[in-house]
Amino acid sequence: MKLAEQADKTDKQQAPESHEAANGTGKPARKEIIKKFPVSCNLPNYESTYATFSWEEAKKEISYFAEGKVNAAYNAVDRHLHNGRRNKVALYSVDAAGKLAKYTFQEMHDEVNKLGNALKSLGVKKGDRVFVFLTRVPELYIATIAIAKIGAIAGPLFSAFGPDALKDRLHDGQAKIVVTSPQLKEKIDGIKHELPDLEHIIVVGGNAKDYKKGGMEIDYATLVADKSTHLACEQMDPEDPLYLLYTSGTTGKPKGVVHVHADILGQHMTSKWVLDLRDDDIYWCTADPGWVTGTVYGIFGPWSNGASCVSYEGRFDAESWYALIDRLKITVWYTAPTALRMLMKAGDDLVYNADLGSLRHILSVGEPLNPEVVRWGMKVFGLPIHDNWWQTETGMQLIANLPCNPVKPGSMGKPLPGVYAAIVDDTGKELPAGELGRLVVRPGWPSMLRTIWRNEPKFQEYFKIPGWYFSGDNAWKDEDGYFVFVGRADDVINTSGHRVGPFEVESALVEHPAVAEAGVIGKPDKERGEIIKAFIVLNNGYTNSEQLLSEIRDHTKKQLAAHAYPREIEVKESLPKTRSGKIMRRLLKAWELGLPSGDISALEED
Ligand code: ATP
Ligand code: MG
Repeated sequence: MKLAEQADKTDKQQAPESHEAANGTGKPARKEIIKKFPVSCNLPNYESTYATFSWEEAKKEISYFAEGKVNAAYNAVDRHLHNGRRNKVALYSVDAAGKLAKYTFQEMHDEVNKLGNALKSLGVKKGDRVFVFLTRVPELYIATIAIAKIGAIAGPLFSAFGPDALKDRLHDGQAKIVVTSPQLKEKIDGIKHELPDLEHIIVVGGNAKDYKKGGMEIDYATLVADKSTHLACEQMDPEDPLYLLYTSGTTGKPKGVVHVHADILGQHMTSKWVLDLRDDDIYWCTADPGWVTGTVYGIFGPWSNGASCVSYEGRFDAESWYALIDRLKITVWYTAPTALRMLMKAGDDLVYNADLGSLRHILSVGEPLNPEVVRWGMKVFGLPIHDNWWQTETGMQLIANLPCNPVKPGSMGKPLPGVYAAIVDDTGKELPAGELGRLVVRPGWPSMLRTIWRNEPKFQEYFKIPGWYFSGDNAWKDEDGYFVFVGRADDVINTSGHRVGPFEVESALVEHPAVAEAGVIGKPDKERGEIIKAFIVLNNGYTNSEQLLSEIRDHTKKQLAAHAYPREIEVKESLPKTRSGKIMRRLLKAWELGLPSGDISALEED
């Protein structure tokens, strides 16, 4: 970023106001606030909107057919052909080699229709499951929208899945069709005999000669070549399924979450308010559509708002990422804490050498966002990073740091208008500000999960106490209504009678300049119940030594209450993560205790 621009941005965003240390009690500690000067944004007044908002009223923003029928795909693409955005770029797709392809809404619509007609010609009917197993190429986007448009159920799959992860999902989801590429197809070849419902594999970018007429495998280009660009959109009941998304598998076996076409209302409103998308934005969601963020905020939500979306097929690399922001003049950037920590590890010089002056709004989701990372963002980008909280099950952001509100580093923000979130005890009784408890939400937001695919009992578990959706996360709320994530309910550590969330210990650790990443667990201890053990990855230029570890320990002791510092610290080359980039603390624990690893189909293999 050019220094002048950076200074200008920092002018508009005040640095953190005060900075109090975390205290390791699971209770409020930080009083740090990043105040923002009034900016024009799509949701300018949180309080008054929260007080008066109704989902019924918000439906005006969505295009419905007669008798309340709807289709998320129509809202994402078709309607922009009639509202002045026909020739606007819908998708900037940059392949792994850096080649750029552009699709306007009209072009996207035509490609979608051809594939929709092709799928119908193969006998795909409303409710059939069509999975998409592609890297981030335009056909991924075309296929996802086409599947929804004909009323089938889309099943996005992350391209890095190995055969086991793939089989679990295709088998559980009873896939009828998979859309894939020649390279990725090899992973399906070994498992297809175990998929009784699979009828066809559509191959994108292959050699047409390789696929026999009438065979199970079909060349995409040949299939769509003679298909019409006209296709009537299936008018769906709002409660009809839209897609089947598997959770990240951080806490156990991934769950197949079923969402419906009614979700588009929540996706639209949150993209408008939280992502704050406007017509001149170039928006990049770094998440792969194999995960909920990539599907909801990489496709449906932003497109429903008519935004120009960026898709990047390449892998993570700090320099390439910054170069992409500069090349496409990206203005709104939605990414994840793990990526931000890696960017931080790659060093500030890379940021200063790039021109990132186009950025105006940065967001993060998926894991707790360490305050240190927010401070780093202020320093190098001159912008606060807006954390927000949601889950595959919630289908849309529910708690967020909105552009109109001050950011409190370490907090996920406030519940969005139309969302009532609370902290409760195990009986469902609401707890006052400052008390640690279960993070729950009042059911009824439009994108709430409708069931777990073929597992209704699992679905019921989320609603074990009437009137609440149980998220499985622990948190507390401060006096201003900001929610602070403490940990997964399963990860909370009980040491000497105190409950400690791994997040605050990890955040204290990454504040030390030598620590790039940290994963913290409770290790059984006769005297204390559990002691805190930290696994850390060192930043470039630091070597493991007793002296360094004791320095890090002393640093965290200053930050945290006496019982909450890590008594044991182990340096690792990397931490086990899900393929969506989340630290798998349950694996660290299993390894530490010599226990079985459990379901590791979600484990990143690199
Ligand atoms: P599984 O449910 O299979 O164990 P998962 O919970 O990681 O996997 P996702 O639905 O992708 O699957 O992730 C949702 C979870 O991610 C949340 O429940 C929460 O634990 C974590 N999370 C998401 N956003 C945030 C955030 N802003 N701060 C802290 N944690 C977050
Ligand atoms: Mg979960």
